Amino acid sequence: MTESTSATDNGEILEQLAALREENGSLRQQLDEWVSRVRENETISKRLQQSELKVLAAQTLEQIASVVVDEIGNDNGVITTLVVDDPELELARILESEPDPVVSGCIIPIHEFAHLKTLFTGPPAPCFDALDPVLLRSLFPENCLAIKSTLLIPLMQGGELIGSLNFGSTNEHHFEPGMATDIIERLAAIIAVALLNTLNQYRLREAGLTDPLTALNNRRFFEQRLVEEFDRARRTRRPLCCLMIDIDFFKQVNDTHGHQVGDKVLQRVSQTMVEQMRRTDVLARYGGEEFVVLLPETLATTAMDVAERLRARVASEMIALDDGGELSITVSIGLSVLDSSTSEQDTPKTLVAYADQALYKAKHGGRNRVEQEVAS
Ligand code: GH3
Ligand code: MG
Ligand code: MG
Repeated sequence: MTESTSATDNGEILEQLAALREENGSLRQQLDEWVSRVRENETISKRLQQSELKVLAAQTLEQIASVVVDEIGNDNGVITTLVVDDPELELARILESEPDPVVSGCIIPIHEFAHLKTLFTGPPAPCFDALDPVLLRSLFPENCLAIKSTLLIPLMQGGELIGSLNFGSTNEHHFEPGMATDIIERLAAIIAVALLNTLNQYRLREAGLTDPLTALNNRRFFEQRLVEEFDRARRTRRPLCCLMIDIDFFKQVNDTHGHQVGDKVLQRVSQTMVEQMRRTDVLARYGGEEFVVLLPETLATTAMDVAERLRARVASEMIALDDGGELSITVSIGLSVLDSSTSEQDTPKTLVAYADQALYKAKHGGRNRVEQEVAS
């Protein structure tokens, strides 16, 4: 009896041992999983810290975009974009003037931001279920049809929503509510600061190179470009023309109608010039009522036609005045040319000086005309 009881006990003990061993095995497996998850998180966290440092050092939109595209979203086919509230189309203009495929695929200016704002009502928090097709098209323009799960982190500045950092995955379970997002939220806060900082740098640069009255480039901008275009024309042996344009009897406009009308005339003439020139031409307000244009890759005969067309256009336009009257304006234009016949001694400055001499001839020849100065 005792023997048989003891045999049963042994069997139970063995069974318990086996169960314990099994439990132990599964605990170890779980522990291993946790350890590897902690290591994985540590790697992700280290990588994001590196990305934070790069974003902090970013000076340009290209640098911000390359961190967002290459480093944050670069695992498991996750697509990352940044949308930015852009009511004045300011960012859109910057992106248009400096096209770059990485930037334009990643940083997306949004003119109508209202529908995005509704996603972040209340205290701004990450949003996981932005899967509406129209919304996906604005957040991930290049991949919207493939996206099956999303994570949007609001970008805040001074308590205002300025955009969002968006993650999209083709795996519908990649982003699910409840996921930890604290590290990525910190990165988003840094991105928001870097973005505004970079935009301010563009604003400062633009303000320093733009004439506030006419929104044309100013003389400083022109002088930088003059040297670049002159060197390029010399190097490539392509012609470069320069037009100096001055409004005729402008003092009389001010004296008769007042300074405000004078300003309006400057704006209208600027607008007409913008309309008449190519995008590659460099147009600037040189000072007062004088403007200057560089026409790269343009022969003297073509530049003469352009100048004549501009002169005729300004002369034909009537400018409406607030008192119901109308005003007509004329301009005199001087043209100079850099081509194969130009002396090697000539410099960017002499190209402008010749245009100025030609303008002087046009003024003395009766105004409302175009003259060319041929380099000696
Ligand atoms: P000309 O046909 O010989 O060029 O005669 P002009 O009267 O156009 O030339 P002048 O150099 O005698 O006068 C230029 C005037 O342009 C004088 C100046 O007050 C005016 N002016 C310069 N800058 C501005 C500006 O920003 N706004 C306004 N309203 N007037 C300006
Ligand atoms: Mg004048
Ligand atoms: Mg003048």
